[in-house]
Amino acid sequence: MFRRAVLHILLSSFLFLSLLSLSDCHVPPARTMSHGARPMPNKVSNIAAEVAGYTGVAKQIIDLAVFGVAQNRSYRRLADFTDTVGNRVSGSHNLDRAIKYMYSAMTKDGLDVHLEPVKIPHWVRGKESAEMIVPRAKNLAILGLGSSVGTPPDGIQAEVLVVKSFEELKQRASDAEGKIVVFNQPFVSYGETVAYREYGASEAAKVGAVATLIRSITPLSINSPHTGWQDYQEGVKQIPTACITIEDAELMWRIAQRGQKIVVKLTMGARTLPDVDSFNTVAEIKGWQHPEQVVLLSGHLDSWDVGQGAMDDGGGAMISWEALSLIKDLGLRPRRTLRTVLWTAEEQGGIGAQQYYNFHKGNLSNFDLIMESDMGTFRQWLCSSPALTQQKRSWRKWLNYWPPLIQPNWRGAQKGRISHCG
Ligand SMILES: [Zn+2]
Repeated sequence: MFRRAVLHILLSSFLFLSLLSLSDCHVPPARTMSHGARPMPNKVSNIAAEVAGYTGVAKQIIDLAVFGVAQNRSYRRLADFTDTVGNRVSGSHNLDRAIKYMYSAMTKDGLDVHLEPVKIPHWVRGKESAEMIVPRAKNLAILGLGSSVGTPPDGIQAEVLVVKSFEELKQRASDAEGKIVVFNQPFVSYGETVAYREYGASEAAKVGAVATLIRSITPLSINSPHTGWQDYQEGVKQIPTACITIEDAELMWRIAQRGQKIVVKLTMGARTLPDVDSFNTVAEIKGWQHPEQVVLLSGHLDSWDVGQGAMDDGGGAMISWEALSLIKDLGLRPRRTLRTVLWTAEEQGGIGAQQYYNFHKGNLSNFDLIMESDMGTFRQWLCSSPALTQQKRSWRKWLNYWPPLIQPNWRGAQKGRISHCG
């Protein structure tokens, strides 16, 4: 199936990147990978020749993943994991189960596994609903946003102010007092438009709003609200905030444009409980030549509570595991340590990754490459990194060395932003 094939393609790119980094030693190597190529001095001009020396090894890995006994394995692992554990929001019992599941599965797989402790937020959604009461009765599909406060038990009933942007909210600030502000911002891109989900509640609270309903951050909708994290600004009153569907945001905007009054009743049982103990799950294959140096692959184990988290980010977690499995299955020994980290509480603002950084920042120069897959495991379309943006030429050159099967397609690249490829 397409999905399975591309899982393996992305997986192969993980592995190939690992090989590249492994072959680019900090000191001239005495020998290369145990199945490896000829020794090469560590000069940029020799990278192409050195990479070519790994063609056979890369083919072995790709063949095992795409055509061999490991064919579809990462897909089966993903299906078993998500079917067994289900959703795994930060602080939940299910996230604990997910960590135990992966610890046990990767240990059984023969990898060297350990856990690193992290304190993580525990937000619970509770029951939630919204209804438009005036000018007519209509249920609104909503999803409260992570970290939102709840409403009083009887809900909040208030007139609605619909705006399309933060600028419009500022211009109409005097109309916002005591109202539920509905943001009907058009979708530009996730990176740009998500500001409304993250900061909409605080911006509306600054002008006296009692709650916010925010158009879901997506270009497509089948009356489907999205959730995600939001941030309250310090010193600003915390008001309940939820996403609504594109359809309902547009509906209320059209009604408002006609000068009609809109009244909505919003009820949310959301609460933030004390932080809980959790873990980043770490598995690795020690490098034979530079065990202290690390190539890190990652995905996150937590998800939101209203789905299975198969693509966000079960897929990223599984290919990060599978990469190590394939290297192990082939009996390859990397020069540097290949490490997979499955983050906890990524959706709450990268809490697990931040804690990992805090633990390891004294040792940063030993990390040669750090990758996270968290945009779905379909065809590759995005590689981004501030470091890559600074080193446009070498990055593009480097990508040209990838095997044809996993060559990125530059058509999707944003103009002038070499850090993005597709
Ligand atoms: Zn994610």
